[in-house]
Amino acid sequence: TGSVIIVGAGHAGFQLAASLRQAGFAERIALINDEGHLPYQRPPLSKAYLKGTGGPETLMFRPDKFYQDNKIELITDHAHAVDRNARKVALASGTSLDYGHLVFATGARNRLLDIPNARLDAVRYLRILDESQALRDLITPGMRVVVIGAGFIGLEFAATARAKGLEVDVVELASRVMARAVTAEISEFSQSRHGAAGIRIHLGVQVTAIEADGAKVTGVSLSNGTHIPADLVVVGVGVLPNVELAAEAGLPVASGIIVDEHLSTADPNVSAIGDCALYTSKRFGGSLRLESVQNATDHARCVASRLTGKTEVYDGLPWFWSDQGPDKLQMAGLTTGYDRVVVRGDRAQGAFSAFCYRGDRLLGIESVNRAGDHMFGRRLLGAGGSITPEQAADASFDLKSALA
Ligand code: FAD
Repeated sequence: TGSVIIVGAGHAGFQLAASLRQAGFAERIALINDEGHLPYQRPPLSKAYLKGTGGPETLMFRPDKFYQDNKIELITDHAHAVDRNARKVALASGTSLDYGHLVFATGARNRLLDIPNARLDAVRYLRILDESQALRDLITPGMRVVVIGAGFIGLEFAATARAKGLEVDVVELASRVMARAVTAEISEFSQSRHGAAGIRIHLGVQVTAIEADGAKVTGVSLSNGTHIPADLVVVGVGVLPNVELAAEAGLPVASGIIVDEHLSTADPNVSAIGDCALYTSKRFGGSLRLESVQNATDHARCVASRLTGKTEVYDGLPWFWSDQGPDKLQMAGLTTGYDRVVVRGDRAQGAFSAFCYRGDRLLGIESVNRAGDHMFGRRLLGAGGSITPEQAADASFDLKSALA
């Protein structure tokens, strides 16, 4: 294989380097990291880290010594061009690296809001450690924040901000929260929980402008004519995959860097993994680009296997979690195309799961405070299994018996 150069040291890039060494890969591994921190976990940025008091070191996957001990060259730099004929990556600092195999693990970046005053200092995003740190240092009890976007990150931020005593409004264009990701059952539950915590959720409306007095944010205007006073605006309207470097190198890209079922690009010496990769899914029969830790780390393991001689088709079962205030949401499988939802557990008690079916086929399970159902779903769906809607609805049906 020769040297493996990994562009991007997020969940996918870090895991690939670690898995390669674990599998006995003996050649050069360079991990190009354009953030000024050791590789770290992103999920806590909108959860425990934002809420807590621990320092950045609490987020790191491994201490510095791990990279030295494992001869993983962590290069703080930004890759800005790839020459596939010469097999070279040019770095912003002016140096270049030769590769035997190149892996794009470039992740995604915030989609920026394009409305009046969106560039003011009090308009913030939440993707990287520096942004989470800045928000943590900024938010104080009584401050008024408007969160734009009721996706996972917007709601996680909102719950944390509310718990810290802020006045929180969430504005969402869709008619329910997390509409693209979860069933109406989960959305409705989540809306009522956030509402009960004192968060005001505005659905089916758009923020048309941010109002300011000089450089100071004073509020936002909504498409329905409402005005919400605010000191701070946090934007969570999704991300854009970082595909430009691959595209400039002449590789096919669409809504991600296009890779096959082995996560290889059109160039056999180049792979792409994690949030930036649009991969051919054998399991779902189509192209998928997912944004999750599971996807990033399982992609990384699959490519590590291939580069150490065990080529396999990528077939990881998607799963995801989101902590919002006291509630733990967990998703197993992909529920796209479901036509029937069976609820198991007790919605009123705040612990239930939505089993999503197409016909009699279980597609996925979305759980609220029902970790057992989630783990069951990962095992069952991972093995290609199913249970009937009647079994799912029957509280006396022993899920474990379906795994035997
Ligand atoms: P990233 O983690 O984005 O890493 C890519 C890295 O590449 C970045 O450091 C980037 O700066 C760098 N890079 C890009 N271009 C270059 C270049 N040219 N040169 C050098 N470096 C480059 N997922 C879950 O499953 N559960 C959760 O609860 C959850 N919570 C989240 C909370 C927040 C606040 C965020 C932002 C994400 C959350 N996610 C969660 C999603 C998860 O973090 C991502 O799916 C995961 O980080 C993707 O890993 P990645 O390595 O593909 O990309």
